[in-house]
Amino acid sequence: MRTIATIAELRAVLDGARHDGRRVGLVPTMGYLHDGHASLMERARAECNVVASTIFVNPLQFAAHEDLDSYPRDLDRDQAIAARAGVDVLFTPALEEMYPATVLTAVSVAGVADDLEGATRPTHFAGVATVVAKLFNIAGPCHAYFGEKDYQQLLVVRQMARDLSFPVEVVGCPTVREIDGLALSSRNKYLDADERAAAPVLYRALQAGAAAIAAGERDRAVVADLVASIVAAEPLARLDYAAVRAADDLAEISPLVGKVRLLVAANFGGARLIDNLGVTAL
Ligand code: AMP
Repeated sequence: MRTIATIAELRAVLDGARHDGRRVGLVPTMGYLHDGHASLMERARAECNVVASTIFVNPLQFAAHEDLDSYPRDLDRDQAIAARAGVDVLFTPALEEMYPATVLTAVSVAGVADDLEGATRPTHFAGVATVVAKLFNIAGPCHAYFGEKDYQQLLVVRQMARDLSFPVEVVGCPTVREIDGLALSSRNKYLDADERAAAPVLYRALQAGAAAIAAGERDRAVVADLVASIVAAEPLARLDYAAVRAADDLAEISPLVGKVRLLVAANFGGARLIDNLGVTAL
């Protein structure tokens, strides 16, 4: 695996690969890699000829009060994990390489970005869309792998790629979980032992909501209240939202029909965790 820090070099490598008829896979990350990231890299490895992954903690997607400065970083460990997962090129640009001057241009996505994460973090998705647009422009035509773990982000990126005609196929990949159901996340590092023991309540609550739908419940509010009440019963959790939406566009459908996504966000101490689960209402 080769580690590259400049835009020009990454472009040259991926342009060369495409010139030789090779399919490029791209896995954008903020580093502090875990098995969830590795699953995206392995999928790209299986479906593409050249796999590039990026590690960049993007300041644009953090609000001033958020955890940009404390976001965990460990490049040596990340290099080992990425290499093991089959990454050919690891792009690790410095802040000045990505943003040499004040950024005056932003990509904003309406609709799907507006509420849930967008309500609690109003500048977040413009930061995500802007950096992903930049990475797509740097990488060029490719298959880009994103986790369903950040479900709303996946929809935002898909919408952006479609609306702006990026020559990029956005591929969604399933959430990798700990044995007790907690979704892997770099932010799980912030949890103390008690919070870590409490955090799987998110997945249990989502499962209970999905089971209610599978058993025939079609009232969106009833299912959302059920999920919320299970999270609220955990003393170490501070619920932000529990929502039940159409899986395609996060519309507030009622009655619940077709592909449905349950989404939840809560704080455990200083860590804000999100999770989601899909279910089909037949
Ligand atoms: P991040 O480094 O948190 O920005 O995540 C980079 C990519 O990895 C995003 O597409 C995430 O959705 C994905 N990802 C993060 N956690 C998981 C997980 N537990 N399972 C699958 N994908 C994940």
